[in-house]
Amino acid sequence: MSALIDDLPDLDALRVEDERRTLDACFLGPYGENDTLLEKLVVEFLRDHVYWRRTFHPEDPPAIPTRAAQHPRYQAFEARMRRELHALSAALKKSVPFHSPRYIGHMASDLLLPGLAAQMLTLPYNPNNVCEDAAPVTVEMEVRAGLQLARMFGYPDDTARADCAFGHLTSGGTVANYQALRLALALKAFPVALRAAGVPDIEVPGSDREAFNLAPRDAIALHERWQAWLRAQPAGDRRAWRERVEQARPEHTGLTAFFARHPQLQPPVVLAPVTAHYSWSKGMKLLGLGRAQLLRVPEVGMRMDADALDAVLERCLLEHTPVLACVGVLGTTEYGTVDPIDRIVAARERFTARGLGFAVHVDAAWGGYMATLFREPDGRLRPREAILAEHAQFPQPHVHAAFAALADTDSITVDPHKLGYLPYGAGAFVCRDHRAVALLAEQADYVFHGDAPDDYFARHRRLGQVIPEGSKSGAAAAAVYVTHRVLPLDHAHFGALPRQTIRAAEAFAAAAARFAADIAPMAIAFVPFAPDSNLVCVAINPVGNRNVAAANAFVQRLADELRCDPSQPLQARQFFGSSTTLRPESIGQDELARILGALGLDAASFGVDDGADRVLILRHTLMNPYPLDHENGISYIDHYFDHLAGRIRLLLAERTASVSKAPHAP
Ligand SMILES: *Cc1c(COP(=O)(O)O)cnc(C)c1O
Repeated sequence: MSALIDDLPDLDALRVEDERRTLDACFLGPYGENDTLLEKLVVEFLRDHVYWRRTFHPEDPPAIPTRAAQHPRYQAFEARMRRELHALSAALKKSVPFHSPRYIGHMASDLLLPGLAAQMLTLPYNPNNVCEDAAPVTVEMEVRAGLQLARMFGYPDDTARADCAFGHLTSGGTVANYQALRLALALKAFPVALRAAGVPDIEVPGSDREAFNLAPRDAIALHERWQAWLRAQPAGDRRAWRERVEQARPEHTGLTAFFARHPQLQPPVVLAPVTAHYSWSKGMKLLGLGRAQLLRVPEVGMRMDADALDAVLERCLLEHTPVLACVGVLGTTEYGTVDPIDRIVAARERFTARGLGFAVHVDAAWGGYMATLFREPDGRLRPREAILAEHAQFPQPHVHAAFAALADTDSITVDPHKLGYLPYGAGAFVCRDHRAVALLAEQADYVFHGDAPDDYFARHRRLGQVIPEGSKSGAAAAAVYVTHRVLPLDHAHFGALPRQTIRAAEAFAAAAARFAADIAPMAIAFVPFAPDSNLVCVAINPVGNRNVAAANAFVQRLADELRCDPSQPLQARQFFGSSTTLRPESIGQDELARILGALGLDAASFGVDDGADRVLILRHTLMNPYPLDHENGISYIDHYFDHLAGRIRLLLAERTASVSKAPHAP
C-alpha cells in the first residue's frame, strides 16, 4: 500500500508526525476538512472590518436606512444578485479540482490557509500597491515579502547594508521575467549614456563597447558614483546634469536612436536554454529587441549545456555581439529540470574578465520555493548530505550546486502562485542589489526628495516608480507576506511543503517502476530521465510497436483522458495529468537514441510522419500535499497507476478487437 513509507528513507518518526500535524492546519483540505477554521476566520475578520468602518467617525450615522431591505427595489436587486451568484457558483463546479490528490496535472494545488485568509480579509480594504498613499500598510508588506524571498535565495536581506537585495511582486512570472530584461538593459546602457553626457570627474570606460559590456555590478557602482557626484554639485547645476544623462539613455531616446548614436554597438542578445518558458519570447518582443535576439543555448538531458554556453559566448565575444543576460531555469516548466546555475555564474566571471559582461537571471518561477529546503533557519546554506538524508535521491550534486549558486546571480523570478501555494496574481522579481532599481524609476527625482534615498523602506515604498504595472493588488502582497511569516522560508518551516512534494515524486517514480513491471506484457513504460525536482514523466509504448507516430498517437489517447473536458461531468475523470514532448533540441541526440531504443521504437521512423519529430510522454506534477492519505491508508499514487494500467489494457483490447473485426466490417 503505502508507497511513501516503503520507498523512502526513514525520517525521525516523531518529526514526520509533527510535520503532518502542522500540515493538517495548512489547507482547506481535499474534503474541505478545515471548513470551520476558514469560516471562523472569514467571519471574524469581516466583523473586524465592519468595526473599523463604524469607528472611523462614529458620529456619522448609517447612510443606508435600517428598513432599506424591505423596499421592493432593494429586494429586486438582491434577487438579481443572488440569481447571478448562484449561476456563477454552479458554473464554477466545472473548475479544475486543483485541491484534489487526484490532480497531478499542472502547476497548481490547494491554497495555503494563511494566504487565502489574508487575501480575503484584505480585499474589502482594497489597498492599491502602486504607492504608499493608496496602500499605507500593504506596500511595506510587499517590500518585506521581497526581502523574505531574497533571504530564501541567499541574497543579502539586511536593509542596513548598502547592497541589500530588493524584490517586488508582479502579476506572475511572465511580468517578473520582463522586469529582469528591463533592468538588465537599463544597467547595460547606463554607462554608455554616462559617457555620452560627458560628465567630468567620473572615470568611465574608454569606449562605448567597453561601457556596454560591463557586468551589472560594475554598472551599479558607476551609477552610485554618479549619484554621489550629482549630490555634490551646486543645486542649480544638478537638474541640467541629470537631464543630460537621462536624455542619453535608451529609455528616453528609444532603442533605434540609441543604437544610431552609438554605431560601435550592436543590439544585445539574450541567452536562454531551448526549453525556456515562452514568456522570454514575449519579453523580447515587449522590450523591442525582438525574438530574433533570443538565442537558444543547446541542452543535454533537458538542462542547459554549459559547454555549449561557453561556445556561444566565445562566438559573441569574437563577433562583438553584446550579451544582455544569460537566463538559467531552476525547475523547467516541462520537466522540472534544473540548469547548472553555478556554471552560468562561473561563465559570467570568466567572460566579464575578457570584456563580455552580462547579467545572470534565474527563472525560478517554478522551482524557486524549493530553495527553502536548502536554507537553515539562521540563513545558512544546508549541506547536500543533510537534505539527502530526507529523500531517496534529492538533491543530486548538480542540483545542490545550482541552488547554492543562486546567491551569486543578479536577479531571480519566483512565483508565489505556484510552489508558494497562494492565489493567482502573485509572481515576484528579486534582484541582488537594491541600488540597481533606481535606474528603472519613472522619475529620477528620488535623489532630491529629502532624505528618502538613504532609508531603504522610504525609498522602496514608491513601488509604482519601478514596477511594470500601475495599480495592483495590495491583498496579494498581504497574502504573500503573512504566509511567509506563518511559514518562514527555511527547511524547518515552509520546507515541509517542498519536502513533501519531493518525497511524493520519489514515491511516484518508485510506483512507476512497479507499474512498468505489471504492464510489461502489454507495454513498455519507464521514467525517461531522473527527475531533478517534483515533476515526473512517464514514457509508454505498446509492446510490438516500432513506429514513433503510432506510439505518440497511443500516448495522446491516454493524455486526452487525463485532461479537463468541459463537455463532461467532472466526476467522469478519475485523474488529471498532463503531457509533454521529448525533442532532440532539449534532450540531445544521444539521450533521444537511448530513449527510442528503450521504448523499442525504430529510430528510422523518427521525424518521418507528421508528429513523429518528438516523443510524447505523460507528465505529472506532484504538488498536492495528500498523495498518500495516511488517515485512510489510501495511496492516490498507486490508484493512479492502477487506473493508467486499466486504460492501457482497454485501449489495447479495443485495438485488437477492431483489427480482428476489420475484415468483416460492412
Ligand atoms: C510558469 C512559468 C513562467 C510564467 O509564469 P506566469 O506566472 O505563468 O506568468 C515562467 N517561467 C517558468 C519556468 C515557469 O514555470
